[in-house]
Amino acid sequence: MRSRTDVSWPTWSNWAGNQTARPLAVHRPETEEQIVAIVKDAAARGTRVKVVGSGHSFTDIACTDGHLVDLSGYGRVLAIDPNGLTVTVQAGMRLEHLNRALDPRGLAMPNLGDIAYQTVAGATSTATHGTGARLPGLAAQIVAMRLILADGSALDCSTVEEPEVFHAARVGLGALGVVSTVTLQVVPAFNLHVVEEPLPLGEVLADLDARVDGNDHFELFWVPHTDLALTKANNRTTEPIDRRGRAKEWVDDRLMENYAFGALCRLGRRRPGWIPHLARALAASGRASYVDESYRVFASPRLVRFYEMEYAVPRAAGAEALQRVRRFIEDSGLLVSFPVEFRFTAPDDIPLSTASGRESCYIAVHVFEGMEHRPYFEGVERIMHDYEGRPHWGKLHFQDWSTLSRRYPEWDRFVAVRDRLDPDRRFTNAYLDRVLGP
Ligand SMILES: Cc1cc2nc3c(=O)[nH]c(=O)nc-3n(C[C@H](O)[C@H](O)[C@H](O)COP(=O)(O)OP(=O)(O)OC[C@H]3O[C@@H](n4cnc5c(N)ncnc54)[C@H](O)[C@@H]3O)c2cc1C
Repeated sequence: MRSRTDVSWPTWSNWAGNQTARPLAVHRPETEEQIVAIVKDAAARGTRVKVVGSGHSFTDIACTDGHLVDLSGYGRVLAIDPNGLTVTVQAGMRLEHLNRALDPRGLAMPNLGDIAYQTVAGATSTATHGTGARLPGLAAQIVAMRLILADGSALDCSTVEEPEVFHAARVGLGALGVVSTVTLQVVPAFNLHVVEEPLPLGEVLADLDARVDGNDHFELFWVPHTDLALTKANNRTTEPIDRRGRAKEWVDDRLMENYAFGALCRLGRRRPGWIPHLARALAASGRASYVDESYRVFASPRLVRFYEMEYAVPRAAGAEALQRVRRFIEDSGLLVSFPVEFRFTAPDDIPLSTASGRESCYIAVHVFEGMEHRPYFEGVERIMHDYEGRPHWGKLHFQDWSTLSRRYPEWDRFVAVRDRLDPDRRFTNAYLDRVLGP
């Protein structure tokens, strides 16, 4: 059976609405055979192929003027091994669905980012990460993958089978082939004890290492134009679930973090001069402490649309880099209505992971949709250059391969795998030409 295909001059846009594409056709395969047929057909016609996950990247990484392959109908669990603690899924599975499939079997992902709308392959392909100095990003959980290559053949890889491909493909940027299935290492389900607390930024940075090393997952959001950091420390616990209560949860996660925050952002967009005053209202949240299942703690709803840039710098430089971002905002007179996010991960060995070979600290800056982001993001990027900063592949940045290639010690290993698997660049697009070179 052929996959569902839309050829009526389709348009595609990402979640943030800042990237649009006019593909030749949009395909919605539901089987691996259908994916193979799409790739073979494109190869025969000499056209490009691009897979899209759930469109949650801010860059044009998922855009194409060729064949767009939407895997939203290819997202089932294929196997769960409760003894080996692994799960194999079709690549288009959303993380939120994976979480819900794992939970009844007493399993969970060890860490997640702050949303779970992404697909497994989309999240891992761009080195998506959460926070936790002892935990690497999501791609480091991959133990095996199956790729559909440029000629339509399938290739299975792991540390024992095609190890060089496996090494590179975990963070493949969609440049090596269509990821068909992914096997992930999971852990027994666990609860997290959450403590959310606004604190003076200086106080937090003064004993940052103790906070980062003393908690399983520590992060902060510094609120520009104030002294305050909204801190969040999550620790594994054997305590039973002690939720905030449905009403309190709704108030915190929906009303405050989304509806009220969105209203403040809209007000700030209309009256930018009010932003510093609105920021004080944002920073005025109180302390909260509760226990919940890990996946419910990690990811929350995101209803306010924004544009984001995020840089990974060596952990040791993180506090200094954040202070410089603060000084830049204050000295430049920029009015910033979104908090600056500050997170940590362990190093990994994946060539194009932003944490490749180094303990990392992530600094993320955002602007509300419809607001100018370039002067802010470009200014922050200039600071990140001084720390050999590596931009998140799915978030806005202004670099290309000439600078990026020097920031990844194993860059050439990735390029060698790409040259072998996709010599004709069937899977490239404008973004990949820019960041990886033509
Ligand atoms: C509100 C919001 C919150 C976010 N929070 C975080 C966070 O906490 N931490 C973090 O690190 N990032 C975060 N991100 C960024 C996000 O995790 C990444 O951009 C991620 O890549 C999005 O996944 P996706 O499924 O939407 O993939 P897409 O954006 O659709 O695609 C990303 C890339 O993956 C490729 N791809 C997707 N599926 C396949 C496949 N089957 N085979 C080959 N290539 C494939 C695409 O071709 C493209 O190159 C956030 C983004 C948003 C919008």
